[in-house]
Amino acid sequence: MENNCIYCSKDKNLEKLMIEICTLEYSTLYLFKDQKHLGRCVLAYKYHATELFEIPYDNYQLYMKELRFVANKLKELFNCDKINYAIYGDLVNHVHFHIVPKYRDDIQWGEPFSDKINPIFLENDNFKEIKNLILKKITT
Ligand SMILES: [Zn+2]
Repeated sequence: MENNCIYCSKDKNLEKLMIEICTLEYSTLYLFKDQKHLGRCVLAYKYHATELFEIPYDNYQLYMKELRFVANKLKELFNCDKINYAIYGDLVNHVHFHIVPKYRDDIQWGEPFSDKINPIFLENDNFKEIKNLILKKITT
């Protein structure tokens, strides 16, 4: 646990970027507020680690299992053409995957997703509906 880490403290700075969907055994799943890629989520590792290789191997395997599980559910739910996975962590150094559904005829197909184009924030009801759809898909 690091006090200045948004994933450890789950503070308002985290809430500006995403909302929690659910916790799994080794991770927490969030819905990213910028939904220009419909279904974009973040899966943060349960404990503070900066690099994947710092995670004890057993936990790493279980975290990857959860990543695989979540990505499969998102693919089924949103019927996307591909899912992009990304870990950066230069600025937020708690291990977390961006899980980003990509659509063949949509923005940034064939290139890395990025935040360099304008975000799309949904109406609150729509955003909550997506959150609930993912939660239902994950838990059933
Ligand atoms: Zn942390």
